[in-house]
Amino acid sequence: MCAPAHRPRPLKRSQPTKLILPDLVSHCSFKLRCNRHKKAITKETKRWLFKDGNLLGQKREAYHGLKAGLLVAQCYPDAAYPQLRVVNDFMTYLFHLDNLSDLMDNTGTRTTADEVLNSLHYPHTWNTSARVGKMTRDFWKRLVLTASPGAQQRFIETMDFFFQSVTQQASDRANGVIPDLESYISLRRDTSGCKPCWALIEYANNLDLPEEVMDHPVLRSLGEATNDLVTWSNDIFSYNVEQSKGDTHNMIPVVMNQYGVDLQSAIDFVGDLCKQSIDRFNEECSRLPSWGPEIDRQVAIYVDGLANWIVGSLHWSFETERYFGKFGMEVKEKLSVDLLAKRKAGQSQQKSKCRQSQSPQDHYTQSYDTIQTSSSSASPHSPPNIYSTSISHSSLSLSFYSGYPCPSQTSQSTSTCFQPNDGGTYSLGLVV
Ligand SMILES: [Mg+2]
Repeated sequence: MCAPAHRPRPLKRSQPTKLILPDLVSHCSFKLRCNRHKKAITKETKRWLFKDGNLLGQKREAYHGLKAGLLVAQCYPDAAYPQLRVVNDFMTYLFHLDNLSDLMDNTGTRTTADEVLNSLHYPHTWNTSARVGKMTRDFWKRLVLTASPGAQQRFIETMDFFFQSVTQQASDRANGVIPDLESYISLRRDTSGCKPCWALIEYANNLDLPEEVMDHPVLRSLGEATNDLVTWSNDIFSYNVEQSKGDTHNMIPVVMNQYGVDLQSAIDFVGDLCKQSIDRFNEECSRLPSWGPEIDRQVAIYVDGLANWIVGSLHWSFETERYFGKFGMEVKEKLSVDLLAKRKAGQSQQKSKCRQSQSPQDHYTQSYDTIQTSSSSASPHSPPNIYSTSISHSSLSLSFYSGYPCPSQTSQSTSTCFQPNDGGTYSLGLVV
């Protein structure tokens, strides 16, 4: 992403009560399609997710309102059933990562990132009793049956980036830090969880593309433009719920803070950036080189897969109950929503554990459960060559041990400390 071409002009307005959303659906000319296996994967993934008593009560209700199966069916419209099922399992699990992690394993010393990354790297030897680890191994063993080595590597590498970035996000949140726009954009491209989903485009469509092609500047730019559109539009759509919780990992408060503009000006600004991302995608499509007939055929499918994500996620955002409750279709038409009242400190966690009744506004906040992380650190006790990251109540550490087979970062170690200001709770999962 380049620096924005223009800055929003500071405007002083009275406290807003409504948000006007940009019309991104009209700006997108890609055809919306839906995979014919949507119903089947929704049913089977539900069975998989709820197995062994996972997610009870209102968390199960929130599953239905999320409509992950619809998102996956619209973003991977041509995938065959086995691949679509794996993608849906993964996406659903990623949305629920915080809920699936809260029991962890019996020792309480391994973090979610440890479990997931070790399960991906060592699916046949990593011994775990944690359900998030077992679920990771389960979908991964099915995925590797047909995924190309390159797609597997890109998936693991970008999942690693995902965990690194959400760790940074947790630190920012705990410190009440609102990053500058450039830093935020860089971090957001990983916290979005989009990059592993791009590797799944390869998997879902049985592509086998060499690294030098996937690493071509035009293809990278296409992936980045898609990531930007999906995540920035999500920041607009999810802003209302997030601001009510005081969550600042969102481009709207970042822009407000950086340029000193009011809320609506920031939404308009981010909306323009979203439209520019779609324009960028279209321009990059015309710059694609040729690698010969077979590679070109596969590249066309991959690029089409990115376009499916643009149009599929935009429409899904109004179908899911995650952002606008049951009023999504109305919001899609009117492009106007009432600003939610801010919650008091500590209200979020209390509600997530004990919600007796729900107002219409409360309804679509129920998927925002938080986790209470383990208070112990795994790092000093982890075996060599094992990825380890931990978040505790008093410190955050992120370590890579020498020899860990991470393609881009084989040996480094960083650590930082923070004091959480919200009772020691952090969100983990797709930041959307
Ligand atoms: Mg969001």
